[in-house]
Amino acid sequence: MEAKKQRSSEWSVGMEEPISFPICGCGYPAKLTTSWSNRNSGRRFFGCKNYGSFFHKHCRFFCWYDPPMSTRSRIVLVGLLNKIKANDIQRRNERFGWIFLLVVCVVLLWFSMHEGE
Ligand SMILES: [Zn+2]
Repeated sequence: MEAKKQRSSEWSVGMEEPISFPICGCGYPAKLTTSWSNRNSGRRFFGCKNYGSFFHKHCRFFCWYDPPMSTRSRIVLVGLLNKIKANDIQRRNERFGWIFLLVVCVVLLWFSMHEGE
């Protein structure tokens, strides 16, 4: 009973799990980011909050939060992501096709309206 009570102290609403953030070289708590690279899709890591900003180029704080993924789950996830990406591109192309058709119609209409002048 005691152990259950203790958990709620570090929880905040909307958080998946209690996370203890490491402190990076700048003295700030590190930022939890999800990696979407092919090698580590969906794996979360801690990085410097100021990483890449002009004044903190020297800070290269980096540490994984999630354990390494098995090769199998990585293949499944990458395949899934590629599928989503392909769907997205297809949908965008379809939308572009409709806009193009609309523009052609308007241009044709405009020409037919001004033909007799
Ligand atoms: Zn830092």
